[in-house]
Amino acid sequence: MPAAATPLAGQTALVTGASRGIGRAIALALAAEGAELVVNYARSASAAEAVVAEIVAAGGRAYALAADVAKEAAVDGLIQAVLERSGRLDVLVNNAGITRDGLLLRMKTADWQAVIDLNLTGVFFCTRAVSRPMLKARRGRIINITSVVGLTGNPGQANYSAAKAGVVGFTRSTAAEFASRGITVNAVAPGFIATDMTEGLDPEPILKAIPVGRLGQPEEVAGAVRFLAADPAAAYITGQVLQVDGGMLMA
Ligand code: NAP
Repeated sequence: MPAAATPLAGQTALVTGASRGIGRAIALALAAEGAELVVNYARSASAAEAVVAEIVAAGGRAYALAADVAKEAAVDGLIQAVLERSGRLDVLVNNAGITRDGLLLRMKTADWQAVIDLNLTGVFFCTRAVSRPMLKARRGRIINITSVVGLTGNPGQANYSAAKAGVVGFTRSTAAEFASRGITVNAVAPGFIATDMTEGLDPEPILKAIPVGRLGQPEEVAGAVRFLAADPAAAYITGQVLQVDGGMLMA
């Protein structure tokens, strides 16, 4: 295949939480652009290995690495393992995330902390760990998966929306820090996407809030990430939040 058809050929991409849902779709999309994929997961080893097998079956390169991205030592070990095995890390997608919904009055400290630890502090741990090799290489693409509720807020999701809003500020700050060094940092803000995370939700009020009239598919979020990570035309885009939400939030 000609090089132009696989812009990430020879590059390595790490997607956190790539065993299922949006992360899985992102991993497949970046592998299709020629990247060697590091499929991170926390618990779902067989699902992560299935993603690796799918990439390899399509002629790509991939391996899975377990690491709890909310833990500093685990993240440092993960990035070290990638650098030892692949010798480089060109693309980081901070995708791993959880919800622990509940109205504020009854929100347990543990549910606040768990969401902040993974959805915000995990993004910090991963970005800090990749920053040294990327700064040295003077190249890199970092894409953080935030959420429209990080822009709007949402009743019952004070923890989640605070973490996701934090990711937006983190994205802009790090984008400014790295801009002159060939590293772009952007965020993608999905609306409601059909994954395990949204499976238990009542679809009726959700569908009313989506002008397009349907939930998004993981592949539709992956398309935006693929553009920011792989398209040479995205080199001049940094510090932005790209909403993939079926028109939910037009701002
Ligand atoms: P999902 O289907 O629940 O998948 C979550 C993924 O994160 C899994 O691969 C899971 O790995 C991984 N993960 C969980 N805890 C982890 C940890 N401590 N360390 C490393 N990986 C961990 O979720 P999703 O819907 O695809 O969401 C992906 C991202 O998009 C999240 O950041 C989420 O907040 C965001 N988002 C989702 C929606 C939506 O509507 N679905 C909307 C806006 C934003 P295991 O399989 O090993 O548990």
